[in-house]
Amino acid sequence: MSFSHPQASRKQPTHNSKTLPEIDNHTKHSQAGLLSLIPPHSEPYKHSDTHQNIHLKPLSTPITSPNTSIHTHPPHLAHSIPCKLNWGVTLMMTAIHLIAFLFAYTYWSWSAVGVCMVLSFLTGCIGVSMGMHRLFSHRTFKVSKQISYIIGLFSTLAFQGPIAEWVARHRMHHAGSDTHEDPHNVKRGFFYAHMGWLLYHNDHFNHPNKIKAYSRDILQDPVLKFMSTRIFMITAQCVLALLLWLIGGMPWLVWGTFVRLAINYHSTWLVNSAAHLWGYKTYPTNDEARNNWWVALLTWGEGWHNNHHAHASSARIGHKRWEIDITHWMILLLAKLGLASDIKDATQKPKKKTAKIN
Ligand SMILES: [Zn+2]
Ligand SMILES: [Zn+2]
Repeated sequence: MSFSHPQASRKQPTHNSKTLPEIDNHTKHSQAGLLSLIPPHSEPYKHSDTHQNIHLKPLSTPITSPNTSIHTHPPHLAHSIPCKLNWGVTLMMTAIHLIAFLFAYTYWSWSAVGVCMVLSFLTGCIGVSMGMHRLFSHRTFKVSKQISYIIGLFSTLAFQGPIAEWVARHRMHHAGSDTHEDPHNVKRGFFYAHMGWLLYHNDHFNHPNKIKAYSRDILQDPVLKFMSTRIFMITAQCVLALLLWLIGGMPWLVWGTFVRLAINYHSTWLVNSAAHLWGYKTYPTNDEARNNWWVALLTWGEGWHNNHHAHASSARIGHKRWEIDITHWMILLLAKLGLASDIKDATQKPKKKTAKIN
């Protein structure tokens, strides 16, 4: 069964050109960016590398399915698939939240809060925002393999699922944002988009072949493939928890693991829920993604989500001066240190060569 074109069921933008003066240009960016997110049949996932490519891609380019042999429900039925509770994830989430809530006050100390903040930065900003999102999912900048493995370790310690699965589901989200092809479709309600989608089995999105098709480039790297196993993810988290307990006792264990995970889970999830419901649109994308300042503050810049959906291949997500994007600053810092290159920035004007072609 083949995948249908995710855009086929999309509604047209409802915004007018008075409030969104850049409508024509950025609609092109948005749609071309979306096309580039669909993984091809046999090649590793690639984004459009330059603005030039984005401009030159015809909007009517047919989308190919990642793998026609994948058995999934047709999109119009995906929403009605009976959802079976995933007891493993549900119990784990309950335990993490309960321990964080019940013991945060008992084991409070300044050093424990400090450890929580440092690890939140390393796993949330570097691991999730810079790593799983802007590097592994969208390839918005380049680093050496060694640096990508270090970033991948922080991604793993965020404990938001194996890297390949996170990347695959995020690419599915962009390919079918706010439709039945979106794993956390906000049209199913705030709670479902926020965390409800994680608590249920859904074969439509979790089929191993579909995950593989959407994360082929990650799985082609043997180290990232190994890091994408559940056993590695759980072991790494347990080793970190043990180290925290050995060094700082219960306060460091509780705050460095359980409180950190609970806070960072909800910060990340707010991008899928709040930033698809509340905020403003700078670009007329065909989805509900919004720029939300308080989600951006909680997520190191990820809350400028309308900007991101319009320009998914840009490493810079805060496009206006005041749209603070700490992750982008960290990527620029990596570049200054000679550790990152080819940083894509949607706010930079296309090169002259592109203008001539157009
Ligand atoms: Zn989104
Ligand atoms: Zn994204």
